Amino acid sequence: MGFFDSLRNFKNQIDQIESSVYNGKQSLLELYERNARLEAEIAARTKELDTANRQMLTLQHIWDMMNSSKPLSSVLNATVNSLQGELGYLHSCIAKRLVDNEGDYLQIVACAGELFGDNFLRLFSCEPSDIRLKFPNIEELPGAIDGKQIYQSTDIFNLVKSVFPDITDDTAQKFSSETKAKSFILVPLSYKHSHFGSLVVFSTREEATENELNFLTLFAKQIELAITIADLFQAVKEQAITDGMTGLYNRRYFEEFIKKEATRSARQNQKFTVIGIDLDHLKKINDIYGHNYGDIAIKAIAEVLKRNGRSIDVAARMGGEEFNVILPGVDSAGGLVVAERIRKSIEAVPLEKIGHITASLGVATYMEHSGDIDELLELVDHAMYESKRNGRNRVTLAKPVSETSWQEVAIDTFIDILSKHRIPLDIKTSKLLTNKLQEMNINNEMLYQVSDALIKTYNPEHPQDGTKQKIQLASLLAKRFDLSKESVDKLKIAILLYDIGNTMLPKELLSKTEPLTEEDRQSIKRHPVIAAREILEPISTIVDIIPIIEKHHENWNGTGYPNNLSGENIPIESQIILIVDSYCALLENRPYRPAVSKEEALKTILADANNKWSDKLAQEFVSIVQNEVN
Ligand code: GH3
Ligand code: MG
Repeated sequence: MGFFDSLRNFKNQIDQIESSVYNGKQSLLELYERNARLEAEIAARTKELDTANRQMLTLQHIWDMMNSSKPLSSVLNATVNSLQGELGYLHSCIAKRLVDNEGDYLQIVACAGELFGDNFLRLFSCEPSDIRLKFPNIEELPGAIDGKQIYQSTDIFNLVKSVFPDITDDTAQKFSSETKAKSFILVPLSYKHSHFGSLVVFSTREEATENELNFLTLFAKQIELAITIADLFQAVKEQAITDGMTGLYNRRYFEEFIKKEATRSARQNQKFTVIGIDLDHLKKINDIYGHNYGDIAIKAIAEVLKRNGRSIDVAARMGGEEFNVILPGVDSAGGLVVAERIRKSIEAVPLEKIGHITASLGVATYMEHSGDIDELLELVDHAMYESKRNGRNRVTLAKPVSETSWQEVAIDTFIDILSKHRIPLDIKTSKLLTNKLQEMNINNEMLYQVSDALIKTYNPEHPQDGTKQKIQLASLLAKRFDLSKESVDKLKIAILLYDIGNTMLPKELLSKTEPLTEEDRQSIKRHPVIAAREILEPISTIVDIIPIIEKHHENWNGTGYPNNLSGENIPIESQIILIVDSYCALLENRPYRPAVSKEEALKTILADANNKWSDKLAQEFVSIVQNEVN
């Protein structure tokens, strides 16, 4: 092979090498490019996956919130917060559409993030606000707020202008140019087929991707679900018929049931019995062992009631440590047997630490003791109070109203007023007086003491034995006017209660030393009469007493109040209260005048004959007082 041949050969070889290098380079390039494409794809897929994952977590979070039965506002706030965190919006909020007599408006009910560092518009601060935002009309934001379609826009200037009616163009301009937000998206929220409001997000991006819009739509659906569930939850709560702590029926159910039972009983001429049960000394249990043990004692009673009941009996926790059981078709004899069984079972249960608990029970039967539900329940209460009075851990059968002594009615009325806080008395005094009443053997002296103590709370001048004196004077007067025993009893109860409305008067007014204004005078005059009715009306055993009290400021000559009644139109019991009260008041110091002597007081009584009271009443009264002195 000659030189040229070898040279050619060599060149060929180089060509070959070159071409193979070139080919190799090509495939390397291809490989590289393919790898790069793949990597980009993997990165994109990873990102998608990541986003999808985060979206799932967000939705999961909302679900958790909803299931935790938090109030709707906190669920919504947490929802917008998570949206904010996940999708990196500047600001997200839920604007609720509300209506009042001025028309539609928007209110931010939940929000997160800030559009502005200095948040000069509270709308865009981090707090939901009660600012009334104008509801934009369709021309201002076409398609946005009508609650049908998702709306995306970069026109922040017009958004601000349309929801803040009073904002100037300059401020809106400043806002839209200074904020980092480039666009906003409104997603309609509907609830029960009507427009609830909008989810609003402000983004740093000019345009949202389709994925983002899809996600927001999904998100809005979750918000709608949260609203629906919160609403359902509320409705369910309102319809609840059982007491959460004991699983017994609650007061609402009891009240409904007893009404139905009364109708049914009356129709079928069949009695039913109610047993009232009150745990003894719960306060002590709470104080000694703690509230948890108090709860254990309450639950123990509930368990006894569940065990002892027939399927048709209804046992309810009326509140606190009070329970009622209705026994359909059972008369008082049967009721007493059941009550006694319950009492024994309660006493028999051994409880950790506490040992044994007891309860006081009262029993009353529909159509035996009363045909009126309210009265029946009161009789149950009164019987229960009597069990407490007689040493607790016992059962008492109600007495028909007519057989109850006036002292018992009075005691039970006071207990009712105090224990149900019908007057604004401090808890300590209230408890002290209730205890006194509960421990009391039916005893006039003690009853007077409680009444005196009550009067002292608003009238420091009230003398020792003031109530006793009034009752004595009134009883003596009643005899002279031949009042029946029933009327005298009513009069005595009325004497104990006629000024109870004073407990509702502001203290400043009662102790005012400067002359009273006309307004003060009116208030002192009329208010107690109105208040007395309010305080006493719920206590049905004393319905007959209220009219007597209400008329004890009427004057014989028709110049009294509240109804300018005159002469015999005023019940004699009310006339007696007026004269006794006026006389006793004259003997007391008042901030605006000193006390007067008995003689002076009697002169005044006589001077007002035929005006405030009849001449006969004045004469009889003076004669009684003078006899008393002698
Ligand atoms: P009495 O024998 O006269 O009924 O005395 P008592 O202490 O049981 O009754 P009182 O009415 O003086 O006090 C009732 C107490 O029960 C006061 C209240 O704090 C407590 N209480 C009410 N409801 C609950 C409850 O659900 N759990 C607990 N632990 N205590 C309660
Ligand atoms: Mg109790």
